[in-house]
Amino acid sequence: CARKDPAADGRCDGRRRVKRPQRVFTGNVNMKSGSAGCRNTSSARFHIHTTLQLSINLSYVGLTDKYMNFQELNLPNALLRALRDKEYERPTPIQMQAIPAALEGRDILGTAQTGTGKTAAFTLPILQLLSAEPRTKGRRTIKTLVLTPTRELAIQIDECCRDYARYTDIRHCVIFGGVNQRPQVDALQRGIDLLVATPGRLLDLIGQGYVSLSDIRFFVLDEADRMLDMGFIHDIRRILPLLPAKRQTLFFSATMPDDIVKLANTMLRNPAHVTVTPPASVVETIRQSVLFAEKAEKRTLLASLLRERPESSVLVFSRTKHGADRIARILTKAGIEGRAIHGDKSQGARERAMNDFRAGRCRVLIATDIAARGIDISELPLVINYDLPEVAE
Ligand code: AMP
Repeated sequence: CARKDPAADGRCDGRRRVKRPQRVFTGNVNMKSGSAGCRNTSSARFHIHTTLQLSINLSYVGLTDKYMNFQELNLPNALLRALRDKEYERPTPIQMQAIPAALEGRDILGTAQTGTGKTAAFTLPILQLLSAEPRTKGRRTIKTLVLTPTRELAIQIDECCRDYARYTDIRHCVIFGGVNQRPQVDALQRGIDLLVATPGRLLDLIGQGYVSLSDIRFFVLDEADRMLDMGFIHDIRRILPLLPAKRQTLFFSATMPDDIVKLANTMLRNPAHVTVTPPASVVETIRQSVLFAEKAEKRTLLASLLRERPESSVLVFSRTKHGADRIARILTKAGIEGRAIHGDKSQGARERAMNDFRAGRCRVLIATDIAARGIDISELPLVINYDLPEVAE
């Protein structure tokens, strides 16, 4: 502990003194009215969400009396029962806007981030419309396609379908790359009504003749802005002509820059516009701090922050894949178990790390924004941006 700085509230990590960072901002940020997320418990629920670089959308309780209930949305009993199991009391703002319009058969242009309840906003009306149809004889054909940019999001949406469709006879499955296609092909061949897919694996299986989109009547494009950021525009352009012209399209994006609006205009007919959550709004229960540290001191600072909260799960965002791996190594050396997830990790490794983190078996998860968009983790007390995000939102 050689350094002496009278102005600094220093602390010792055993090897060297780390200058206590100046806390330039810490406090609550008011959530703008109307940007309520969803959760009916008193504990905040955290949804990690990234735009081009990184933003975190933290959704929470905060629903007021003016909100209607699910019965008023005319959802059938099978869905209401599933929603009761999930302990959802009321629809979120995006659900209140999107569900009636979708049930009327309208296309939807939705500006909504993950954490607002948008998965249910598109899944519930589609499940209702699908289950109202008479079953035809023979193997089921795919009638709904949900296209989403990342594998993690695809898995999450499929899990929502499982929960919401529990008391219906709708069958669904999810396909994404980076894993053996056999189980996915087996599921497809058993016949499904609803398919959740990432673009690459979808085109691959269409090419091999395992997927036909000719019976699609509901098409959901989820996280459209992220799709474009990730370079999926060419894949989308190849998929669109394979869809029947007569269909209902539900288009969701967290942001609506010009190229997204242009894309939406090519796909939607007289859409109902639904918008929630102004960008960069953060709920009142979240305290935010900015810590200044020299680059060389960041690793020691991170280790000391993590040691201060030995019980907490912590999510650390790194700007690069290489950086994420380096942070994991630094932490391991410091005796703190940390696991990295990013686009270069195998799907199996990503899922294991994510599941272990969710289940509390892995305390610290280090993620790049690419690996983290839209991931829903409950009860996460601390999120650290190790690098300054380039896009403030
Ligand atoms: P999403 O924005 O679709 O990722 O949903 C975010 C979280 O909100 C998920 O954990 C959902 O289970 C939850 N959720 C969705 N709708 C509601 C609702 N009406 N009430 C309470 N929680 C909800």
